[in-house]
Amino acid sequence: MAADHTPLTRRQALAALTGAVLMPLADPAAGSVRHERHFLFGSPVDVMLRHAPESPGDAALASVMRGLQHIHAQWNAWKPGELGRINQAFREGRSARVTPALLATIRSAARLERASAGLFNPGIGGAVRAWGFHDDVMRDGARPAAATLAAWRDAAPSLAQIEMRGDRVASRNPRLQLDFGAYAKGVAIDRALDEFAARGQGDALVNLGGNLGAMGATGWQIGIRDPFGEGLLASLATQGREAVVTSGSYERFRMLDGERCTHILDPSIAAPAQGLVSVTVLHRSAALADAAATALLVAGPLRWREVAQRMGVTQVLAVGPDGRGIASGALAARLQFASRDWRGRIATV
Ligand code: ADP
Ligand code: MG
Repeated sequence: MAADHTPLTRRQALAALTGAVLMPLADPAAGSVRHERHFLFGSPVDVMLRHAPESPGDAALASVMRGLQHIHAQWNAWKPGELGRINQAFREGRSARVTPALLATIRSAARLERASAGLFNPGIGGAVRAWGFHDDVMRDGARPAAATLAAWRDAAPSLAQIEMRGDRVASRNPRLQLDFGAYAKGVAIDRALDEFAARGQGDALVNLGGNLGAMGATGWQIGIRDPFGEGLLASLATQGREAVVTSGSYERFRMLDGERCTHILDPSIAAPAQGLVSVTVLHRSAALADAAATALLVAGPLRWREVAQRMGVTQVLAVGPDGRGIASGALAARLQFASRDWRGRIATV
């Protein structure tokens, strides 16, 4: 049963169209499945629990929602909160206090930045802002000036430039600006599943706007959206604990000087990534899958396999602008294509 019947705004409806989607349950025990929908991170958040009749999971659910709400409120790159406070300190060359949860996230993100050869870089918030993506609304306009972009590119921000001392962080690079838009949802999914497991709810699914994580012996049937339309490309059943995360250049973009510019930037040029329309990554860790999906989209058709290997992801579906794609073998074997057409367009490596 949905807990929230607020009508979708256009943006929310669009966000709901990307990434993965939960399929109707063909589960004879569907009576014991609880479904709640909330809105966070600018998108619908779905939580599903298969639970014993005597423990519907109220306390677990409330605690998970509090955790998601906290990340939503505190780790946003352009709204007041802990991240904004730290970014301000970096700009002013001061140190700032950091909570243990955010510090752990900075550390894990720094490792993933290295593993991705810098293609996933949550320190490029300044460039993301210069492109106008620190906003809920995507307006048409003009590209940023070349000199502005050159300045962000040459500043070469990296999480490796963060000094951590006790509960404080500082950076000597005033152009290092944290933006966890490509990572926070993955971290939030992992934390939500950890919380459910710790509270005895081991059969759960959390869907943050098309990025989802699931666990439980029965598995959950999910669909991967067609990046060009409203239907599905394929579906699959989750196995054990697993996350399915998609980065798409079709979802959040601005028309600038008549050109479609995606919100995912190639840090080496401080400009929108080109070459792939969507990348879906499956991995036990939603955080790793989130970072990897972004990095692989930036890597593009020629480099994504090398970067996947560096980051330790083996289950990938990458789709290009010509509507053709590649599924890595480990994933290809599990996909049920939604149509013969899609089966013909996805090659296996
Ligand atoms: P989605 O918004 O669909 O979850 P991503 O996970 O790829 O997609 O996150 C994109 C967001 O991450 C952007 O809106 C921006 O805030 C930030 N970002 C853009 N490019 C990069 C990058 N190369 N590395 C890390 N973060 C990025
Ligand atoms: Mg990501």
